[in-house]
Amino acid sequence: MLKKINILLAEPRGFCAGVQRAVDIVDKAINKYGGPVYVRHEIVHNKRVVKDLEKKGAIFVDELDQIPTFSKTIFSAHGVSKEVEDNAEKFKLSTIDATCPLVNKVHVEAKNYFDKGYNIILIGHSGHPEVEGINGRVPGGVSIVESEEDIEELNFSDNSKVAFVTQTTLSVDDTKQIISLLRKKYPKIIGQDLKDICYATQNRQTAVRILSKKVDLVIVIGGDNSSNTKRLVEIVKIEGVDVYRVSDAYDINKAWFKNVKNLGITAGASSPEILVVEVIEKIKTYFDDISVSTMDGEKENVTFKLPKSLL
Ligand code: SF4
Repeated sequence: MLKKINILLAEPRGFCAGVQRAVDIVDKAINKYGGPVYVRHEIVHNKRVVKDLEKKGAIFVDELDQIPTFSKTIFSAHGVSKEVEDNAEKFKLSTIDATCPLVNKVHVEAKNYFDKGYNIILIGHSGHPEVEGINGRVPGGVSIVESEEDIEELNFSDNSKVAFVTQTTLSVDDTKQIISLLRKKYPKIIGQDLKDICYATQNRQTAVRILSKKVDLVIVIGGDNSSNTKRLVEIVKIEGVDVYRVSDAYDINKAWFKNVKNLGITAGASSPEILVVEVIEKIKTYFDDISVSTMDGEKENVTFKLPKSLL
C-alpha cells in the first residue's frame, strides 16, 4: 500500500448546462415516446453517457439514412448543418434538436454575417462535428482557421468584408492570439463578443490552470474525442505539471501515484460526476490514507430550457 494522498477536485468540472440539457432531452424523449429513439452521432463525446442512454432505449447512428421513416430522431449537442436538417425532413423523421443554445447562437451569428455580405472565418478544429454544423449553416461554407499558419493562407482582398465566429469549446484564452493576428491582417474584421463563446469552457480551463499550481499530478477525465477535454490536458502541460487523461476508473494505473502527495482531478464538460466518484474510489484502494477536498472556484448556476415538446 502507498501511504497518503491529498486529492483536490477542480471547481467547476464535468457536465455543463448544454450537455446536461442534451442528455435530459434523450432521457425525456425515451420516457415520453418509448424506445427506440434515434440519435445522430454521440449525443455528447462521452462513452459512459452514450452507453447508459443505449441501455434505456437510445440508438446512436452515424447518418440519417440508417433511421427508419417517421422515427423520433435527436440531433446531438454539437449541432447540425442545414443539409442534415433538410435531409431529416426528406426522410420524414420526427426531429428533436438537442443542439446547445450557445452553439445555436453561433449558427445564427454566422448566418447574419453572411446575410450582410461578410466572408466568414470560423476559428475551430476542422472535422469537429460542431465546426461541420456551423460550416453547413452558411451557404458556400466558411473558412476554417485552426492555427496561425491557416491565417497566412487566407486571401480575401483588402476591401472585402470579413467577420469571424469561433467554436464554443475554445476559450477566450485559446482564441486571443488568433484573433489578434486576424485583426492585423484584416483591420476592419468584426466578430462575436468573446464573452459570448461559452462560460463552461472558460470556467473549466481557468479552474484547471489554478488547480495545476497546487498539485504534483493532474488526472483529466474525459473522452479521447472530446475537444474540451484535450484542451484541459494541454493547459496542465503548459503549466509544467504531469497529467493523464482517462476515460474512466479502468484507465487508472497505480504506478502513476508513487511519488505524488497532491493529486488534482478534473473532468471535461461531457463527463458525468459518477466518473469522478469512481476514479476516487479506485485511487482509495491504493492508499492507507486519503483526503478529498474541492478547490474554491466559479459556482455555476446556468441551466438551459428543454424543448417545449418535452415539457
Ligand atoms: Fe454548450 Fe459550452 Fe457545454 Fe458546449 S461546452 S455544450 S457550448 S455549454
